[in-house]
Amino acid sequence: MENIDQLRTHGLFDAKVPRYTSYPPANHFENGVGRENQANWLRTVSGDKGISVYIHIPFCTRLCWFCACRTQGTKTLQPVDAYVEFLRSEIRAVRATLPKSVRMARLHLGGGTPTILPVKTMSMLLTEVFDAFPKDDDFEFSVEVDPTEVSDQLLESLINFGLNRVSLGVQDFAPVVQNAIGRSQSLEQTRHVIDFLRARGVTALNLDLLYGLPFQTMESFKETLDHVIAMEPDRLAIYGYAHVPWMSKRQVLINADDLPDSEMRFELAMLAQETLINQGFEAIGIDHFAVPSDKLAIAQNEGRVRRNFQGYTDDQCETLIGFGASAISRFKQGFLQNAVATSAYQDRITQGSMAAHKGYMLTASDDVISRVVEDLLCRFELDSSSLSAEFPKQAEFIRAISVMLMRQYSDAFHISKNGLKMNDWAKPLVRIIANSVDTFSSSEVAHSSAI
Ligand code: SF4
Repeated sequence: MENIDQLRTHGLFDAKVPRYTSYPPANHFENGVGRENQANWLRTVSGDKGISVYIHIPFCTRLCWFCACRTQGTKTLQPVDAYVEFLRSEIRAVRATLPKSVRMARLHLGGGTPTILPVKTMSMLLTEVFDAFPKDDDFEFSVEVDPTEVSDQLLESLINFGLNRVSLGVQDFAPVVQNAIGRSQSLEQTRHVIDFLRARGVTALNLDLLYGLPFQTMESFKETLDHVIAMEPDRLAIYGYAHVPWMSKRQVLINADDLPDSEMRFELAMLAQETLINQGFEAIGIDHFAVPSDKLAIAQNEGRVRRNFQGYTDDQCETLIGFGASAISRFKQGFLQNAVATSAYQDRITQGSMAAHKGYMLTASDDVISRVVEDLLCRFELDSSSLSAEFPKQAEFIRAISVMLMRQYSDAFHISKNGLKMNDWAKPLVRIIANSVDTFSSSEVAHSSAI
């Protein structure tokens, strides 16, 4: 790549910055915002607009070494069944506080491993959810499926409940890589799930890969890319592996010496981008790809892509309600996160209360910065005309941000009709640039690599 020196000068290969799936990032949520806010914010949710619902299942039968998700290993279903009872109580409590007319536009089950739930337990949970929240028009029900931990019966049951999008974790198919990250998953297991879903009409399929894993080479990663392209997914998310063993203890099992360096990570990311674009995928933001007919690609062409905790989405809901341990909710007033440890979450529900334990109340300037960060991450631009029209009292602040960006990154932007647009070569810098408008930015907090 011609501009590699410019990327290097701007710190691409050294910087550690947030992924900006929210602004502020969740590590800035505060203890003073919690249960008291939760009931008030739930009561003020607009009954006219659909909400998004996220349910977190923090259990896995195996703990893959690379994974930094909030989850715990279990060999028995007893804690899983017990946890689902707490989820059902939480759903009832939240339902009782929300305006009656609220409908559900999105439902996403994530984890951990949602597909660890047995059919009966999953049915009880979903019956509770759908009784509480009637489906809105154009309802989307998505589930993270572990191809090594799902039965045909469970998939059948999810389909009967309206499952219409599936996210499958792949990471890498090379045996040497799988061995080094403690996760084995065969091509056959993955293909079986895809074929099973397609045969039953579930055609919206996302596959997730990771670059930057131990022993990955350009050749081995290309082979993995070829395998997943042959599976014909609608979307692919290709994330950079974040080696943060001080935050995720199980990552100490991965030998840091086996990891590709930053420049190799960049090459792997570029390989994925070139391969997928050559195959007809559209690049969405920094790490997603979609076929042109996919809803995310359509949203991108209409300027509607948003950033949320799952990455990029076409979900336009103002309110996201997260259920379960560590789940995060987003309201127009700010963010709330449920107690993180499963036991602490269950204690809160047992006490008959809501489960939020910390959060963040957005100020007027946070609202603007949050939109600037989202504009940058989703569209590689700062549309100061639209922003100033939406936040007229903050017009001077928005102008000051534009001036600061043009001064600090004059080579990375050009002036466009509505504000600033990033030059193509500079797009890998977008998280670093977003970090420069982030008023919470602090070198004391350890983040993942910018690439
Ligand atoms: S990758 Fe999936 S199965 Fe593995 S530990 Fe993480 S959540 Fe569990």
